Amino acid sequence: MKEFDVIIIGGGLSGSSTALNLSRKGYSVLIIEKEKLGNIKPCAGGIASSMKKFLPIDIDQAIESKIRNVEFRWKSSDNVIADLSGESPFWIIRREKLDKLLLNESQKYGMEIVRPAYVEKIIQEDKTWIIKCSNQVTYKSKFLVIADGSQSQWAGYFNLGPRKPKFANTIAVRLKGLGDIPKDAVRFEFGFVKYGFAWAFPLKDSVNIGIGTFINNKLLVDEELNNKIIKSFGFEDLSFKVVQKKLRIWNGIHKLNGNRVIAVGDAASLCDPFLAEGIRPSLISSHYAAESIDQCLSNDNYDLNNYTALINDEWGKSMAWGRRIAQIFYRFPRTGYQLGIKRRTAPQRIAQILSGQMNYEDIAKRVIKRLLTYSDS
Ligand SMILES: Cc1cc2nc3c(=O)[nH]c(=O)nc-3n(C[C@H](O)[C@H](O)[C@H](O)COP(=O)(O)OP(=O)(O)OC[C@H]3O[C@@H](n4cnc5c(N)ncnc54)[C@H](O)[C@@H]3O)c2cc1C
Repeated sequence: MKEFDVIIIGGGLSGSSTALNLSRKGYSVLIIEKEKLGNIKPCAGGIASSMKKFLPIDIDQAIESKIRNVEFRWKSSDNVIADLSGESPFWIIRREKLDKLLLNESQKYGMEIVRPAYVEKIIQEDKTWIIKCSNQVTYKSKFLVIADGSQSQWAGYFNLGPRKPKFANTIAVRLKGLGDIPKDAVRFEFGFVKYGFAWAFPLKDSVNIGIGTFINNKLLVDEELNNKIIKSFGFEDLSFKVVQKKLRIWNGIHKLNGNRVIAVGDAASLCDPFLAEGIRPSLISSHYAAESIDQCLSNDNYDLNNYTALINDEWGKSMAWGRRIAQIFYRFPRTGYQLGIKRRTAPQRIAQILSGQMNYEDIAKRVIKRLLTYSDS
């Protein structure tokens, strides 16, 4: 039976970046991934460049566009443009490339991967996890990382994250050509989609288009509406195949670790409940998961509680405000658009959120301060 320091279930962004963070430190790591190599990921690939500090590798090869403008529209008009000043603060990466870069790099440090294979049974024996896999092989490890994404089977099994996960519904399509999206701009389209919005993020030679709904859980299978949205982004060819995905979004402060087990990324329900941003929390959680496991392995202890505290502090506090903002904004989107996005200072704030310089907590505090100042005067 082959033994590892750490076994990671899931080889997506969170699994592969946790693997690289750990294998670079010299630990033996195995990833168990259920899919074959090379499937397209339903992810638009928008990432704040400030996340460099959480990326264990230079990802230049995976960056396809550097974004200078963010455009918001209400039903194809009434637009607001936020200028992202400074050194390309927002990038569009091709997700398949990013995941592959991270996996290849960690393999250089000795990381092993089995795919396609899924975990059938996990048994805890003294200080060891015994993992039985669909490839009829059994593996052993000291630590276990749950990185099996939004459809996670194992986060609930170990009581990690919310007992009742909350989901956004998304559909995604990648279309050839750029339509009328400039190569250095992203567009958010409000007003067409109830309880959500549509987006278009340009790659080098194609556009990732998506629709997300954040409050009610109906699936987005309205072909007429989808066509209208695709057209609003400047595409005429309507023969496309969409991918639907339920995205686990942040739903309260919860424990994200157990005894020698930790959940990262979507499996930990970390996605932003307002904008569906999931790359940033995946990278942050992978970074801290590796740090916490490293602390345990090098000090021969098993206390991972510090991980939950760090993630809740660094990400959860802001998401608590993000969830409140989402609940108001998506219920009253027209008013939200007028008061939130069309405000004079909004473009600058939006740019600061997307580039990671500001979070929802900062925004909420500013609004509260403004309201208090009004009521005092
Ligand atoms: C349409 C869409 C657009 C998005 N756009 C953006 C964006 O522009 N910016 C942004 O920040 N975020 C975006 N997100 C969110 C982002 O894609 C996710 O947050 C991110 O993929 C999370 O990475 P992950 O590794 O946790 O999960 P995943 O990438 O889903 O990886 C999980 C992996 O685990 C594997 N797996 C699952 N179950 C098992 C099992 N039982 N055994 C073994 N392996 C298993 C899966 O095959 C998969 O490879 C978007 C999401 C969607 C759906």
